[in-house]
Amino acid sequence: MNFPIHPASISRFMRADLPTRPHQYKMLVDGKWTPSLSGETFTRQSPGNDMIVGEYAKAGAADVDLAVTAARKAFDAGSWAYMAAEDRARILTRTAELIRQNADRIALLEALESGKVISQARAEMDWSANLWDYCAAVARTLHGDSHNNLGANLIANVMREPIGVVSIITPWNFPLLIISQKLPFALAAGCTAVVKPSEFTSATTLILGELLLEAGLPAGVVNIVTGFGNTAGQRMLDHAAVDMISFTGSTNVGKLAVRASAGTLKKVSLELGGKNAQVVFADANLEEAADAIIEGAFKNAGESCNCGARLIVERSVRDELVERVVERARQVQVGDPLDPAAQIGAIINQAQLDKIVGFVDGAKRDGVEVLLGEGRVPSDAGLFVYPSILMGVDRHMPVANDEIFGPVLSVMTFETAEEALSIANQSEYGLSAAVWTSDYETAITFSRRLQAGTIWVNTYSSGPAELPFGGYKQSGIGRENGRAGVEEFTELKTVQFHFGGRQNWWANGRR
Ligand code: NDP
Repeated sequence: MNFPIHPASISRFMRADLPTRPHQYKMLVDGKWTPSLSGETFTRQSPGNDMIVGEYAKAGAADVDLAVTAARKAFDAGSWAYMAAEDRARILTRTAELIRQNADRIALLEALESGKVISQARAEMDWSANLWDYCAAVARTLHGDSHNNLGANLIANVMREPIGVVSIITPWNFPLLIISQKLPFALAAGCTAVVKPSEFTSATTLILGELLLEAGLPAGVVNIVTGFGNTAGQRMLDHAAVDMISFTGSTNVGKLAVRASAGTLKKVSLELGGKNAQVVFADANLEEAADAIIEGAFKNAGESCNCGARLIVERSVRDELVERVVERARQVQVGDPLDPAAQIGAIINQAQLDKIVGFVDGAKRDGVEVLLGEGRVPSDAGLFVYPSILMGVDRHMPVANDEIFGPVLSVMTFETAEEALSIANQSEYGLSAAVWTSDYETAITFSRRLQAGTIWVNTYSSGPAELPFGGYKQSGIGRENGRAGVEEFTELKTVQFHFGGRQNWWANGRR
């Protein structure tokens, strides 16, 4: 196992860019940068180096009310909802360009606040910009439907209209990427929004707000509040003037969103947790699979809803595959998020680190063999863990079922495809899964029976903007990305046009 890369190895370029004091941020309400009404603030300490990197306005319910009022006013005025798609698309495209132009600055803040490694943060900037570009295209091709087969006197238009004001709440693991899976889709549909990023990673969402204004977005269309989930977030779920909740985060808070939505029957779209299976058949290309397995399990320090945390491998190739996986995992560099060579950065906060270490310790007590991973990485500053590979995991153990949200891979085996399917589908989650086989028939039949919203065959974690993403079971409701991602933010309205003489209802005895 490699020791963490020493902070001295941070490139001089990155070190020069480190903030000398915390950035101070305001919230975006009705096109203006404002402090919270209470004047209260909160700070964010970087999990990579313990430095305080940001100070934020702490929104309360009254701040959220102002933001919702601004979004409501902007929606009801109709200037955004009825703006020609061509013009809306121009703003989305311009935003994509601005994300690319500011990618280094945003990626640095993303790495400082989330602890993710800088190389990955940089890649996520391009991925995010691409989503804004995609939405510009969909905005221009979104349309309703027309029916002219309803008889001689009736034609109908089915209009696809924006749903209205959307509360968008996001987590800390992919801050810019996840807001980019929601906001441009809502905007493409013609909605207005109130956005709340996670208290741990607010910076890049606020910078996105700057870029949107620069791109020409009218005031009030996007409002960004910063603060805590149980106050500001809860108000965004409860508010009567909000038409839809779009939430990504834990399954527990997702359930709170569903409960809160009942008050005014808001539409709810949820992207929640996962405990994703990587199923490897004996005929698979084990070399390719081994690489994808460690990427799936350890990328973003396993703090990913798509984390491929369960390796379910055919018994006859278990030892050969696990040997390859362990050999590669040993090379993975855990280290300072700002070091370009690091592959696993810091863990988001102490509670998350304790949770990860607790699961590995619990598995040891249950008699599981720890092939790799000694728990917390000793370091002068920051929160780091070694990636862990657990062998001999029983399918009923907590590590086989609970979402750990850390770099922990549990290895289980199967003898038959039925057994593999039963283990893969036993999870209460159903976000994603991978199948490794060189047999086309196995790939198709197995994929059809897996209960997950995304299935990767002989790959892992690709996600083109065109393809819908979302979960089965307790991994969520609704879909993001693709055309479905924009349609989530719309309502259908049926308009029937009658012409010619109308048959009299009463006189003809029609009922
Ligand atoms: P949380 O559910 O704790 O938080 C997500 C967001 O919800 C944060 O902005 C948080 O605010 C807010 N929040 C917390 N409590 C409330 C509340 N009562 N009312 C309204 N909002 C609230 O998740 P994490 O941020 O810890 O993210 C990790 C989880 O997200 C994992 O379970 C993971 O699987 C899931 N996830 C799912 C993805 C998917 O696409 N399926 C993608 C990424 C993550 P604050 O933090 O400021 O308190």
